[in-house]
Amino acid sequence: MGLSACMSNPATGERRFNLMSMDQEIQMGREADGQISETMGLYPDEALQTYVSDIGLAMGAASEWPDLPWTFRVIDDETVNAFALPGGHIYVTRGILAHFNSEAQLAGVLGHEIGHVTARHATTRMSKMQMTQLGVGLAMMLEPELQKIAPLAGAGMQLLFLSYSRADENESDELGVRYMARMGYNPEALVEVMETLRRVSEAGGGGRLPEWQTTHPHPENRQESIRGHIRDLGPREFRPDGREEYLRRIDGIVYGADPREGYSRDGVFYHPVLRFSLHFPDDWTVINQKQAVISVSPQRDASVQLSISSESSIEAAARNLYDNDRVSGAGLARTRINGLPAGIGSFIAQTVQGPIEGSVAFIDYDTRIYQLIGYSGTSTWPAHRETVNASLRSFAALTDRRAIDVEPMRMDVIRVERSQSLRDIYTAYYRGLTPPVPIEQIALINQLEPESHVQTGTLVKMIR
Ligand SMILES: [Zn+2]
Repeated sequence: MGLSACMSNPATGERRFNLMSMDQEIQMGREADGQISETMGLYPDEALQTYVSDIGLAMGAASEWPDLPWTFRVIDDETVNAFALPGGHIYVTRGILAHFNSEAQLAGVLGHEIGHVTARHATTRMSKMQMTQLGVGLAMMLEPELQKIAPLAGAGMQLLFLSYSRADENESDELGVRYMARMGYNPEALVEVMETLRRVSEAGGGGRLPEWQTTHPHPENRQESIRGHIRDLGPREFRPDGREEYLRRIDGIVYGADPREGYSRDGVFYHPVLRFSLHFPDDWTVINQKQAVISVSPQRDASVQLSISSESSIEAAARNLYDNDRVSGAGLARTRINGLPAGIGSFIAQTVQGPIEGSVAFIDYDTRIYQLIGYSGTSTWPAHRETVNASLRSFAALTDRRAIDVEPMRMDVIRVERSQSLRDIYTAYYRGLTPPVPIEQIALINQLEPESHVQTGTLVKMIR
């Protein structure tokens, strides 16, 4: 440990105090990587995964830590962000890919993230990790044994909410510029990406993950300082930016939230693939994770959570809950919920934050056991009980074809046939249709303004 704490880092050339050895970092990263892939889900497009991975692996190999177990993956989330885990696991969201306009821009963000890994920023910031703000925070109060009744993000997920310092960001930009240049990419593309990310955060967004600006703060003077790092490189020759190649690669990718993973309409949550609906309490915030749907009261003092039990019967699922020293309750009463075989019960559980009280329902539907849990602190439970119980009893099979037959928006890369403004292209493309996104959003993903002039033969992104 003494050795690892004093070794200088080949990327930064500095001796920086770090109690964790690189082996420990690799181990921690590997565990978190598994949790994140499982919880967030990878984007199911093998060709796109390989494309991103090949570029990343080449850059990782050109870094000062070529032997790390580098992985580069695309997460199936509409949020605009990229992450680096200790030990070399790097993720980009499909949301950020929709905003790049060249291979060089993709390489810029991968290089920046590789910089966070090689400079070992994560392990020096881990003490400052903050829990996620909604839902997850409440459930994190639960003891590990209780987490199986509220199957939520593990410790690895918290790494996604890590926020870097100004010095870290600057250092990663410098390293990103270095790695881009080594691969022959013009680092000016990193400046272009920073401008787009600034515009994206101004426009605001959504998704299951934090936005770029949350995890990579301190945007001020970023572009100027990156240009400084580029000047330090001296004059160089670069390869083409790979604009056409890149746009061809992202043609057809899912854009925005994917309704096939569940969506809310008029206060009702629909899952068109699993074919159920559930009415969460009115005005509660609904967070749709891959493994659970979580709703939280406006005061954040109560939660209703839906997940699928790993057990194959209502009885086994109930035993899983009640066979716990810290959980007490009268057990399950058999009933039917909207015609489906079910068991409902109440419980009191001891957690590190004090006792919680709640209701639970297990529903046997379409070969799965659905588990619904609603709870709050014991003092506030009487105020929430009726609302929560009504929500639990609203679970129903979904048969309405209009609610089942939903399709996500997709990227459509088109070639402009004659020189005109982006606004004119937009108007012609959506003639006779209701545009799914406003012109401002089309301008943003194309890194243009609505009135920008587009030359004949240029590829442009539309959303269908
Ligand atoms: Zn960063």
